[in-house]
Amino acid sequence: MKKKTKGQLIVLSGPSGVGKSTVISELLSERKDIYFSVSFTTRSPRVGEEDGVNYNFVSRERFEAMIANNELLEYAQYVGNYYGTSLKLIQDHLEAGTDVLLDIEVQGAAKVRAKCPDAVFIFIVPPSFEELSRRLHARNTDGEEVIRGRLQKAREEYREIPNYDYLVVNDKVSEAAAEIIAILTAEGCRTKNRMNLIEGV
Ligand code: 5GP
Repeated sequence: MKKKTKGQLIVLSGPSGVGKSTVISELLSERKDIYFSVSFTTRSPRVGEEDGVNYNFVSRERFEAMIANNELLEYAQYVGNYYGTSLKLIQDHLEAGTDVLLDIEVQGAAKVRAKCPDAVFIFIVPPSFEELSRRLHARNTDGEEVIRGRLQKAREEYREIPNYDYLVVNDKVSEAAAEIIAILTAEGCRTKNRMNLIEGV
């Protein structure tokens, strides 16, 4: 089969505590050909996070210079910090035919939707709001006030769900990852993504 010409841009969003990173790890272990876009952020690394792996951790000055130089496909402020996606890194991979995965919040996703209408947009939710609250408490990293803030933020983010193409429920991680793989398989079979297969007929 001929290799497709351009990679698929995949945008994944979901509330804090939904288990997005775990689903992404599972997905990437199954689909090793996907390039995960490591974002730039001004927030400090959490315990266990590595520079260049989880994020590229940069100063506010560096981030603002990247904005000024149009180096970012999108960026947003989230809970007092900047988060953004390098335009060049993802462009290079897409041009080379590699699928690229972005884990970004809803404001950034809206910017990508305006610039890249061919991207596929997936929103991940927990089985229920009670379950989200339970997971946030179980992480044991935040106080009651912060958890309340995250749940409020999640309610706001839910209003954006109708703008996404697919909704995945993360009840069991393996099933959520399997659904995302199914979505990507179906996207790859779209006629517009397969016209190269019938060239010359
Ligand atoms: P956290 O601080 O918990 O790692 O991430 C906070 C939020 O920022 C998450 O919803 C995550 O998806 C989002 N995020 C991470 N990287 C980016 C990015 O490059 N751009 C945007 N817009 N959001 C991002």
